Amino acid sequence: MENTEFKSGFVNIIGLPNVGKSTLMNALIGEKLSIITRKAQTTRHRILGIINEENAQIVFSDTPGFIEKPAYKMQETMNSFVTSALQDADVFLFMVELGTPIERHIKIYQKIQDNDTPILLLINKVDLSKNEEQVKKYIEEWQLILPKAETFIVSALNNFNLDSVVNRIKQLLPVGPAYYDKDAFTDKTERFFVSEIVREKILLLFKQEIPYSCEVEVESFKEEETITRISAIIYTERATQKSILIGKGGESIKKIGTLARKDMEKFLDKKVFLELFVKVKENWRNNEKDLKGFGYTE
Ligand code: GDP
Ligand code: MG
Repeated sequence: MENTEFKSGFVNIIGLPNVGKSTLMNALIGEKLSIITRKAQTTRHRILGIINEENAQIVFSDTPGFIEKPAYKMQETMNSFVTSALQDADVFLFMVELGTPIERHIKIYQKIQDNDTPILLLINKVDLSKNEEQVKKYIEEWQLILPKAETFIVSALNNFNLDSVVNRIKQLLPVGPAYYDKDAFTDKTERFFVSEIVREKILLLFKQEIPYSCEVEVESFKEEETITRISAIIYTERATQKSILIGKGGESIKKIGTLARKDMEKFLDKKVFLELFVKVKENWRNNEKDLKGFGYTE
């Protein structure tokens, strides 16, 4: 007979844009599941990352940061992923960046403080501070505002103090069966990650407006013995954006393709042949049908 009972549950990572939620999930899972950039609103979907241990399955979810004033239907949908993450959590990881004024988080902590779900408040990016007094004061401020939360100072980037967080989560999880296959580390498909890699390169190479107007769709994904052949379409909202993405003599699209292919090869652990196309889909961010086609519904 086993003497320890199996535990499982959902641990939902929430917080403002850019605090390090995706970095944390990737560090916990040890795979690059979520794309990370310095730009806010990089994560658009809810992505699950799963840790399987002999006696526990922890299902993390990385969510987009909560957007205070959604300007597009797409952003409303992104907020709805956050709302659903609020409802099914067994434990909340509420991540904040060291030093960010507490008032900026009011909308989020009001949503989580009044239920019974335990909250671990992760104060991230402590590697950037050399001032212990500042850290101590910041923790104290939070304890006044959110007394039910347990506080951890962490650095998602440097893997600092993440073990203590995971250990505490394991104590808090309810007893229950595994929700997902014990060898799965995510709920998303390889196709999804491949399209996210292309989106990451667009975020990396272009300024503000372009990346936010793009969506990527993997049209075909064929696995052959020694190579995977992938063809993907980048949709933009306007013809001008399309020509910027393609660039002079196709320079830009080539660059996106080269960078993306290299990452795909790492992710899939296989050689990749990648074809990219750019198409215009006017105003897709406000079109419910397009959003549905791109997977912006739960
Ligand atoms: P998200 O929007 O909350 O998912 O934030 P990301 O994970 O995309 O990270 C936003 C930015 O913060 C990226 O440039 C990360 O490299 C950076 N970042 C995340 N965690 C840390 C950390 O612990 N220390 C430092 N210095 N930077 C971090
Ligand atoms: Mg993110």
